[in-house]
Amino acid sequence: MEFELKNCWYIYKSKKNKAAMDKLAAEYVDFLSLCKTERQTIDWLVSRAAAKGFEQGFTQDKFLKVHKGKSLIMARRGRTAISQGLRILGAHADTPRLDLKQRPLYEECQVSLAKTHYYGGIRKHQWFARPLALHGVVVKTDGTKVHIRIGEDLNDPVFTVADLLPHLAYKQIEKKLSEAFEAEKLNVVLGHVPLAAPAEKDKSPVKLSVLNILQKRFGIVEEDLYSAEIQAVPAGPARYVGLDQGLIGGYGHDDRVCTFAGFEAFLRQNSPENTQVLIIWDKEEIGSEGSSGAKSLFLEYSLEDMIDAWEPGTKLRTVFENTRAISADVHAAMDPDYQDVHEKLNASLLGHGPVFCKFTGHRGKVGANDAHAEYVGWLRGILNSAKIPWQMAETGKVDMGGGGTVAKFLAVYGMDVIDFGPGVLGMHSPFEICSKADIYASFLAYDQFFRN
Ligand code: MN
Ligand code: MN
Repeated sequence: MEFELKNCWYIYKSKKNKAAMDKLAAEYVDFLSLCKTERQTIDWLVSRAAAKGFEQGFTQDKFLKVHKGKSLIMARRGRTAISQGLRILGAHADTPRLDLKQRPLYEECQVSLAKTHYYGGIRKHQWFARPLALHGVVVKTDGTKVHIRIGEDLNDPVFTVADLLPHLAYKQIEKKLSEAFEAEKLNVVLGHVPLAAPAEKDKSPVKLSVLNILQKRFGIVEEDLYSAEIQAVPAGPARYVGLDQGLIGGYGHDDRVCTFAGFEAFLRQNSPENTQVLIIWDKEEIGSEGSSGAKSLFLEYSLEDMIDAWEPGTKLRTVFENTRAISADVHAAMDPDYQDVHEKLNASLLGHGPVFCKFTGHRGKVGANDAHAEYVGWLRGILNSAKIPWQMAETGKVDMGGGGTVAKFLAVYGMDVIDFGPGVLGMHSPFEICSKADIYASFLAYDQFFRN
């Protein structure tokens, strides 16, 4: 009669399951190490999808469409009419980071630096004193796009934000955490060697030297940075964590783990009953804004085109009302060192399967999507019959904090939707932790969702 959480490590203990789990984990580690920006993630997905026969254009039964290189929709036509409703899985490919400002370059004290404006909910102190890589694009006035990726190859230099030494931090450590680390001090070190024999009038020989290197290597001048999107992100690959290698640590589990697991589950479908849609958005971390975020009309416009091609005359709102969706996003797993911010009955544990979050929001569920009980019942049913472990949790103790996802932007259409994804430790930090078992279970759970 009592509900008991199920431990994935016991459920997936067979040799066959372990091998499948390890294989998926290895592929995920490669993906996470390679894709550090939303653009890179979308490019990776598109090239894999194209190899599986997905094409641009809505006349195909398997189509894909990319918007601005930052969001992606894919669909596979089902056996039943679109008016019977879709199975939509949505996730996001953007991650918290330090964006270079549009006029970033300067020099102080024989060091060349770049000003940044952080993107998303970072804890500022976590970004000091660690190796960073620069990723992004620079667009020239003629439309040429220069791709930047420095700091991932072992032969590459890395970048960093220098931190204050403890010897001179007596005043800083007395401050509140929210005031001790200032955004305007998150400046990335770019160089140190001055331009050889600079003219007397040169006041910034180190900055000039950096510009010189940028021009030689990428053919860009300072003005080009005004039309650039360059992100400073943690350098280096994702790694297994722990002696048993049961965890994966890396930058951007939120939400590339759901992007990956959802995509892999989507790819393996074949001749489904309901038409299936995978959508990967950008800008979730800053409120799903802009033309590539979930608040945009990208989904709506794409589905209108799909209906015109496959089932003209069907009303989009009928499709939406009959649609079932998953907002595939990570959840805050219970932190062994900070258990007090969670309420144990309604918290999730690493290794115990993907986590449903019926509602997000904060302070009295404000700003939440709240999935209907009927929908939760249906989902429990399909996962239980496939013997896939799952959990249900809130983001933390009531009034302790909160958060939001893309779920509410899907809910406005009248479809059923719930947040569902693996737990993460250290969410939004430069090194987030995920359980290998949860990644596998999430992939299997998304697979079941698509097929039912
Ligand atoms: Mn997320
Ligand atoms: Mn997030």
